[in-house]
Amino acid sequence: MRFATKVVQAGLVTDKTTGALSTPIYQTASFRHPELGRSTGYDYSRTQNPTRKAVEEAVAALEEGHAGFAFSSGMAAITAILMLYRPGDHLIITEDCYGGTYRVMDKLFAQLGLSASFVDTSNIDQVRQALQPATKAILVETPTNPLMKIADIRAIVALARKHQNPVHVIVDNTFLSPYFQKPLLLGADIVFHSGSKYLAGHNDVICGIAVAKDAALCEQIGFVQNAAGAILGPQDSWLLLRGMKTLAIRLRQHEQNALAIAKWLTTHPSVTAVYYPGLPGHPGKEIQESQASGYGGMLSFTVDHPRLPEQILRKVKVLQFAESLGGVESLITFPAVQTHADIPADIRNRLGITDCLLRFSVGIEDVEDLIADLAQALE
Ligand SMILES: *Cc1c(COP(=O)(O)O)cnc(C)c1O
Repeated sequence: MRFATKVVQAGLVTDKTTGALSTPIYQTASFRHPELGRSTGYDYSRTQNPTRKAVEEAVAALEEGHAGFAFSSGMAAITAILMLYRPGDHLIITEDCYGGTYRVMDKLFAQLGLSASFVDTSNIDQVRQALQPATKAILVETPTNPLMKIADIRAIVALARKHQNPVHVIVDNTFLSPYFQKPLLLGADIVFHSGSKYLAGHNDVICGIAVAKDAALCEQIGFVQNAAGAILGPQDSWLLLRGMKTLAIRLRQHEQNALAIAKWLTTHPSVTAVYYPGLPGHPGKEIQESQASGYGGMLSFTVDHPRLPEQILRKVKVLQFAESLGGVESLITFPAVQTHADIPADIRNRLGITDCLLRFSVGIEDVEDLIADLAQALE
């Protein structure tokens, strides 16, 4: 079955007794046992719930992994993955990663004895140089947030395989979704998502997903999910499942709009740089095309005056000034102050997350309206 079919059919007729087309929301904490020593396969909803199971199986199938795990947020998914490691273990992480990933590592897991090197994972030499005997995982975001740098997933997997100890390759696939990129097929061990973004797609639910390739690794993640307990509830599981059905058609439109806007921005006199992997001249374009089937709907751009971002955020009417991304509505945000405030200013400036940079999650509205709105806001 092809992707667009799989995504639409996900969770279809899971209730054999009634034949309900849509997966029922099993709003129950517990399940009755038929008799002593027997179970329906469900005992208690932290451990497993049929609505959650439907969405977990759907995402595992889309990412072509062994099993999927749904969490109450993307951060809960990352936290569960980081719990696989022990004091003394070292990780390599993309330097311009999601601010929350930086924060949970720097403020919580550092306390528990994990260490991390934050490097430019679009530069394979930097990844190689950061490897230590204690390195247990390389956590990659590609494209990065917000500078849209591209990491070569296959090359990072090859490095990890050559290392003296087993090193997991973990990919945050939030920006592209399995519609455009399937990291497990490129050799990664674990893929995760903030499902709050493209997977759910409507800016209406917070959720996280992790999928692994290997059965033993899945068992470990499943153990953490049940033991730590940050599971996705049945209502939100249903919302995610429902949102995902249109993933293919949404992402096609997100990308078409993003490409048109990226091209338009490059011609604007007040715009000094546009970061979008689909633009000619983007340094990661070739790698992107070798490992993904598209460029996605996210872009960033810089303007020529530090007062202009404030004006743009005040003047936009169709675009909404809001954090988050990946929903049908266009959202624009100011990373230095909003999403990346937890990254120290000197690191932010070195990375290029300056006070002239804006990030744009391009929605699926009519592209002419989006361009007209940006044009008046930039005036
Ligand atoms: C939003 C986001 C997260 C965190 O997910 P939540 O659902 O907000 O907890 C992680 N990684 C990326 C790339 C994100 O955009």
